[in-house]
Amino acid sequence: MTSSRAEPSAEPASPDVSLTDPDEPYSHKGLTYPLGRRGPGQGELIALAEGVGWARLPIPGSLRHINVWVLEDGDGVALVDTGLDIGPCREAWDALFEGPLAGRRITRVICTHFHPDHLGLAGWLTERFAVPLWMTRGEWLFGRMLSADVRDAPPPAALDHWRAAGWDEERIEAEAAKGWGRFASIVSPIPVSYVRMEEGDRLRLGSRDWRVLIGSGHCPEHACLVDDAGGLMIAGDQVLPRITSNVSVGLSEPEADPLGEWLASIEKLKRLPDSLLVLPSHGEPFTGLHARLDALAHGHRDRLDALHARLAEPRRAVDCFGTLFARQVDDSMLGLATGEALAHLRRLEVEGRAVREVRDGVHWYRAA
Ligand SMILES: [Zn+2]
Repeated sequence: MTSSRAEPSAEPASPDVSLTDPDEPYSHKGLTYPLGRRGPGQGELIALAEGVGWARLPIPGSLRHINVWVLEDGDGVALVDTGLDIGPCREAWDALFEGPLAGRRITRVICTHFHPDHLGLAGWLTERFAVPLWMTRGEWLFGRMLSADVRDAPPPAALDHWRAAGWDEERIEAEAAKGWGRFASIVSPIPVSYVRMEEGDRLRLGSRDWRVLIGSGHCPEHACLVDDAGGLMIAGDQVLPRITSNVSVGLSEPEADPLGEWLASIEKLKRLPDSLLVLPSHGEPFTGLHARLDALAHGHRDRLDALHARLAEPRRAVDCFGTLFARQVDDSMLGLATGEALAHLRRLEVEGRAVREVRDGVHWYRAA
């Protein structure tokens, strides 16, 4: 539920890059990484800027890590994003609390969005330190909703949703056998109260003034934090340097247009200065915000055009994977790939470039 698709040329880095000192600044594809390629190790807190620390938690899968930020906040520190509720993430936090954060007061926990790698340990942390959770309303509600929805088997609407996308009965059965409610299994109980962050709010933390900027498309109401005076942006998953964030149509809102929201958010973020140092949730801090936003927008536009061309014949979501993804879609990626294919098909439909026909519960799209 984080970011799915490695771009074809994303890794490995070009050979000349891998020969450089890992701490040396380098540039790649129009972005500059002033701290080099190295990230913080277990129990390590890198002083990124005055009052801003950078730590990493290990997470399984191709992402491998999530970045978390430790912000000086009066006589203590605020934590931004939390990792999954799994042993390795708890251990990584413990190493920080016993190491560089030993004796530090924790003032609050801020989550950029509800995805489990960001929100997973928010409940564990806020309870442990008796501090409030700060989020946007859309993200807090979504997390609370998903964590409350645990059942033995998927609701019939979920099976219909997969069938509509073109999954065969064998795949549907295999997915149904996994039960329903995985979210709650990797997210500690989410606090029943929270402090709401809204667009334009200002959070005074230490000597810095962080402005809340809301993005959408990857999730309903993603909070970025921008320190205009200090030239920093905590970007969460709204802008990532090397992978494209997952943008999916899901079961909860099948007629949504998340790719439209995502592209609009890119336009909104382009109004920020290009000089910001961007602190992403995955990968390394970088400058070159506008180049990255342009590349993301062009990538989606190119895929929309390629998909449109492919819809000369009616296609289902599962028929579009080859056009949209550089890599073969295996079963572990099927859900994310389906959601992303639906997001592109839905965008074409909203733009009037595709029409949908439903036959026996299966959705077929063709170019309009
Ligand atoms: Zn995410």
